[in-house]
Amino acid sequence: MKKIEECNRVMDIYLGLDKGERVPLNVTLHLLTCAKCRKQVKGLKKAEKLARAPLEIPVPIDDSTILAVMHKINPQYSELKNPISITKWIIYGLAMIVFMLAFGLSKFQESNKGVMISFYIVFALAVSAYCAIFVGTNMDYFVKMMTTKKTAA
Ligand SMILES: [Zn+2]
Repeated sequence: MKKIEECNRVMDIYLGLDKGERVPLNVTLHLLTCAKCRKQVKGLKKAEKLARAPLEIPVPIDDSTILAVMHKINPQYSELKNPISITKWIIYGLAMIVFMLAFGLSKFQESNKGVMISFYIVFALAVSAYCAIFVGTNMDYFVKMMTTKKTAA
C-alpha cells in the first residue's frame, strides 16, 4: 500500500515538472528502483514526442530550398536554371536567323528559284529544330515559368 502511495507521489512530482526542468533526486532514485514508474515515464515521453511532432515547424518549401535539394542531387541543376543560358540560347538563335537571312538575301540576287526554295526549307527546318532543342533542353525552365504563372494568377 505504501509503495503505491510513493509511486503516485513520484508521478505527481514528475508530471508537475516543467519542460527541461531537472528531475529531483528522490524521483530519479524511485525511477531507478521502480519498474512500474519507469514504464510510465517512458510511455509519457513517447506520448509527448508524438504530440509534439506535428507542431514542429516544417522546412518552408520555396524555390531556394528546392534548388538547394536539387543542387545536392545534381550539381548541374542550377546551371540549367541559370537565366544566362537562356539568354545565350536566344543570342545564338538570333545570330542563326540573321546569318540565314543574310545568306538568303545574298542568294536572292541570283534569282534561282530552286536554290531559294531549298534554302527556305533548310532554314525552316533549322529554326524548328532549334526551337525544339531549345524547349527540350530548357523544359524545366518553361515548366517552372508556367507553374509560377499559375500560382500567381
Ligand atoms: Zn513507482
